[in-house]
Amino acid sequence: MKTQQYFRPTKAMINLKAIQQNVKNLKEFLQPNVQIIAVVKANAYGHGDVAVARAALEAGATILAVATPDEALHIRAHFEEPDILVLGASPVSFAPYAAQQRIILTVFAEDWIQQAAPLLANESLPLRLHIKVDSGMGRIGIRSEQELLALYQTIQSIDNVEIDGIFTHFATADEEETTYFNQQVQLFERCLSEMPFKPRLVHAANTAASFIKDSHLQYDAVRYGISMYGLAPSSYVESNLPFPLHPAFALESELVHVKQIKSGDSVGYGATYVAPTDMWIGTIPIGYADGVIRKLGGQEVLIDGQRMPIIGRICMDQCMVALPKAYAIGEKVTLIGQQGQSVISVDEWATKLDTINYEVPCIITARVPRIYF
Ligand SMILES: *Cc1c(COP(=O)(O)O)cnc(C)c1O
Repeated sequence: MKTQQYFRPTKAMINLKAIQQNVKNLKEFLQPNVQIIAVVKANAYGHGDVAVARAALEAGATILAVATPDEALHIRAHFEEPDILVLGASPVSFAPYAAQQRIILTVFAEDWIQQAAPLLANESLPLRLHIKVDSGMGRIGIRSEQELLALYQTIQSIDNVEIDGIFTHFATADEEETTYFNQQVQLFERCLSEMPFKPRLVHAANTAASFIKDSHLQYDAVRYGISMYGLAPSSYVESNLPFPLHPAFALESELVHVKQIKSGDSVGYGATYVAPTDMWIGTIPIGYADGVIRKLGGQEVLIDGQRMPIIGRICMDQCMVALPKAYAIGEKVTLIGQQGQSVISVDEWATKLDTINYEVPCIITARVPRIYF
């Protein structure tokens, strides 16, 4: 494969070894025979879906999960063999494509299956389905045993479809308080006991739920997302991790311009930053169109192993930092990652942005190339 050349020095560095180590540790942590579903939706949480999927499969994952039909087709174009599951809702029009491409779809409504039936009549391969139980997330899924049985009967009455799995998703598994979580487990268990047969794959846990000390919740498979990328789903889970996670995402650039400005000179749109003294300023070619959104003004970056703040308003394609002295053009800038002893973590950005770590690599836009090592 020809590697593309990039001229702009701004890039996301993706550590595939870290992802593989995380998958291996997760695999060892699971009961034997529990499969790993590697969740590579949203371009693998911004890390790059194809490279991450390959790394995860090599390290022991056996199934890939995505959120949308288009993500599934993208993965299938690169991987012929592994099962691919679409976790979200798919339009009925996708059903025949899914059957042809051996993509497993999530189903939770009788009309969906009825409308899909005529489109599947001429397919040579059956469409495989996982039934989604909404045990309390309030997103998609059937919400009772009665709805499950009705859906089950409808599916059984249709040719060319096969119930391959059943699953649910937890809303509060990353919290210490377990009352709501336990209610969700109970509803899911009642649904399982209503099923006239056990499908090939029963699955419920994401990262947080898998770390709850009850191995029966692992069922046949666990859907791992955030931990595969080396991040903890919450600070509560982080303080109880069964093994350390290795973060895979770094964001790097270089100084493209360095200059001294005088006391009273201003920097950036709106001239909001006014130099309190004569000072050195560096310009970095990264801005809000890359996902370094304006709310990150004041966030520190690492240069020469030290923290230095972004000053003034962040522009679309560039931003400026205060430097303690002159640095050479081309000096490395780490926005997320490590330099020597200093680290700026994805979690630090999440705190600054008042959000969760999941969102951080996802908001780094496609303009920033993902470089794998
Ligand atoms: C995104 C997602 C996951 C992955 O969750 P993590 O917390 O990242 O491990 C699992 N299951 C479903 C249904 C999801 O949408």
